[in-house]
Amino acid sequence: MLTPVLEKLLVLQDRDARRQALEAQLKAVPGDIARVEQQIATEKGAIDTARNEVKGLETKKKLLETEIGAAEEKLAKYRTQQSQVRKNDEYQALGHEIETTQAAIGAFEGQELEVMYAIDEAKRKFAAAEAVLKENIAGHEARIAMLKERATSLAAEAQAAQAEFVGARSPLEEPVLRLYDRIAARNLPACVPIRGGKCGGCHLKVSSEVESAARGKGLDYAGQLATCDQCGRLVYWDF
Ligand SMILES: [Zn+2]
Repeated sequence: MLTPVLEKLLVLQDRDARRQALEAQLKAVPGDIARVEQQIATEKGAIDTARNEVKGLETKKKLLETEIGAAEEKLAKYRTQQSQVRKNDEYQALGHEIETTQAAIGAFEGQELEVMYAIDEAKRKFAAAEAVLKENIAGHEARIAMLKERATSLAAEAQAAQAEFVGARSPLEEPVLRLYDRIAARNLPACVPIRGGKCGGCHLKVSSEVESAARGKGLDYAGQLATCDQCGRLVYWDF
């Protein structure tokens, strides 16, 4: 049978563990919310990237159209000049310019066609990225709302658990509490059974003095609570 002090210590330890578990869960919530927000930002980022790609390609298309317009003007000018020259070599030189300009226009038109295909593709990507966000946003927002609710209820539970922890301290004497707090700051659980001659915390064999103290009243030879001689946890005999 456990002594009354050990029974109270085990209650305290139990409430301490519950209090700490709730605090750890509460502490994890902001990180969970941040991850969902990051997901939303990533999906919005994909939309922005696709939108910028469309814009960039449309600018490129306009520049090509300007180039084509300028080349066509040049071509018209060469043709007019060619119809007016008398000398054969001048006529041929202009003919050469006309061919070069026509080739340049052809190349620009080829590029323009490629840009137009790329615009279609970029618009498809933009629509797909928008669809992804549209499909997920309600789920993301619901998850954030759920996490915020969870934080509120966890905060209330943690507060209640803290009050229970404080309540479990009052029937214990100050030196016992100091001993518990000192051990609990390093090692949880702070209060462990001896089983098969081994400490339930560090699993090392305890000395025969500690074991017999724990078997007796749970006190060592000096009348203190028995502690593991390896890890310092409070130990008690458990059948
Ligand atoms: Zn130990």
